[in-house]
Amino acid sequence: MIENKSPNRKPLIYYVVIVSAVIMLLNAFVFPALLQRQVQPVSYSDFLKMVDDGQVKEVQLDQDSEQLIFLAENDEGQEAVYKTAVFPDDSLRARLEEAGVSFSAQIPTQNNPLLSFIISWILPIALFSLLGRVLMGQMNKRMGGGMNAMSFGKSNAKIVAQQETGVTFQDVAGEEEAKDALKEIVDFLEHPDKYAAIGAKLPKGALLVGPPGTGKTLLAKAVAGEAKVPFFSISGSEFVEMFVGMGAAKVRDLFKQANEKAPCIVFIDEIDTIGKKRDSGSGIGGNDEREQTLNQLLTEMDGFDGKKGVVILAATNRPESLDPALLRPGRFDRRIPVELPDLQGREAILKVHSRHIRLADDIDLNEIGRATSGASGAELANIVNEAALRAVREGRDKVRQEDLMESVETVIAGYQRKNAVLSERERSIVSYHEIGHALVAAMQTHSAPVTKITIVPRTSGALGYTMQIDEEDHNLMSQEELANKLATLTGGQAAEKLIFGSITTGASNDIEKATKLARAMITRYGMSENFGMVALETVSNQYLGGDTSLACSAAYAEKIDDQVVALVGAARAKADQILKENEAKLHELAKYLLEKETITGEEFMQILNKA
Ligand code: ADP
Ligand code: MG
Ligand code: ZN
Repeated sequence: MIENKSPNRKPLIYYVVIVSAVIMLLNAFVFPALLQRQVQPVSYSDFLKMVDDGQVKEVQLDQDSEQLIFLAENDEGQEAVYKTAVFPDDSLRARLEEAGVSFSAQIPTQNNPLLSFIISWILPIALFSLLGRVLMGQMNKRMGGGMNAMSFGKSNAKIVAQQETGVTFQDVAGEEEAKDALKEIVDFLEHPDKYAAIGAKLPKGALLVGPPGTGKTLLAKAVAGEAKVPFFSISGSEFVEMFVGMGAAKVRDLFKQANEKAPCIVFIDEIDTIGKKRDSGSGIGGNDEREQTLNQLLTEMDGFDGKKGVVILAATNRPESLDPALLRPGRFDRRIPVELPDLQGREAILKVHSRHIRLADDIDLNEIGRATSGASGAELANIVNEAALRAVREGRDKVRQEDLMESVETVIAGYQRKNAVLSERERSIVSYHEIGHALVAAMQTHSAPVTKITIVPRTSGALGYTMQIDEEDHNLMSQEELANKLATLTGGQAAEKLIFGSITTGASNDIEKATKLARAMITRYGMSENFGMVALETVSNQYLGGDTSLACSAAYAEKIDDQVVALVGAARAKADQILKENEAKLHELAKYLLEKETITGEEFMQILNKA
């Protein structure tokens, strides 16, 4: 993909050299030649003599100084300029005509005081001020624009819209879920009137969340490309580099322009750099600039007319650090996850990037996809390019599989160090763990169907996860359902234990959830025989996280702990039992998941129900 870069600017030194050279040249040659050209004074009688002798070529009457300036051959036969005071002489004209001398009454250029003033003073000054302007302009650009000596607070570095990004959804491989979510925005941009007619308001902003290199920028461009609307792009870090007040001014300017160009896309990359949580105690000397910029952004987002067709997309790989104010309704209230690609996604990305590459017949992109689990789209694009470069280095005109394999190693090896790609064994453990959850869930009645299982690491840090979605919303959960949920939660570690004989730290999140759930069943839902309907814990802060506090004696507290242990233990026993009975399916499904990395609920059920 070709990134949109601002056109190459000549370096500053270039202008300095050019202007100094011009000034030096003028001083050394042109000025002296123009100014010091000697004009020799002669007497009027000598002048007449020269006319009669045929030495004079041309005569001009300088009306200012009442002098005759004339060009004549001197004694050495060379042309020179002379001057003489005008003497009252009525016959001069006839005499000149007779000698064939051309004459005029123009102001001779060689000795014009105004001109020499211009050349020696005005011109250098003009050149220097031009140089100054160029320097200022360069400085402006370096400082991210907005610096204008006369008008602080008014951003003059234009944020230029890209009229056509030229990127479409076809250029983005995989990421089907993100694309689906964005298609509605495309439709909105194409037919804003359709939505306005019915009175619908689309979200003003959507937040693309995902690790670096997964195609967030690419997706934003594709939305603009699909809808054929202008694309304004700015990065959060550009705001922060500026002087106080500039960031806010730039935001204002950006929205003003966007409003004029609507429908259009405004894309704010790395929004976390301006949208970080504001710490309450920042006081004086906090990051005022960032805060002002953020406030301006919030104001603009609240202020603009949502029906007009300006959609703001933002990208971040650290959503947890965002100021909650940004995520409120009417702002970036839509969150679109852009995750690392699974095997299918990787294959598709490799395909997209090798579209314009000449490939040998032995190419197997599936193999490359399998060798690159955990790699991002950007890394895959890099792998293809590295392979092409290698082929050229080796003097071939086609890329072979070995080139790709080789560049997988160079690209991924660098990447492994930073990102700890899972080893084959770890991936296998994660697969069994996730299938463990899914199997236990599927083998019990009253549990929500499994919709997706993946071992592609998530932004959240999870190495894999099993998604269950209830067919219908329900607010009331029965004791059986909760018990099943508890068993499902323990299923991951149960599978690890059954297959590998040992367990890993991978279940810490499951354990935390299971404990919380078991505790709530006992202390709040009255689902234990020992205590019955006695509230043993109270929930403070229903809406903000639901902190609980014990509302019983210490003796009871101990009993509660025992019960929690027992309840979770029973759930685990149930999970162990289910997995043991279905060990063959566990193997089959885990192997399938390991290969595919992401499987749907249907695939899962199909294999499960297969005889
Ligand atoms: P992000 O903004 O998420 O960090 P980018 O959009 O800048 O990632 O992606 C960098 C490059 O990686 C893109 O220009 C593209 O070449 C490649 N790339 C990333 N994801 C994909 C994808 N899903 N399909 C095709 N190319 C991709
Ligand atoms: Mg990006
Ligand atoms: Zn788990």
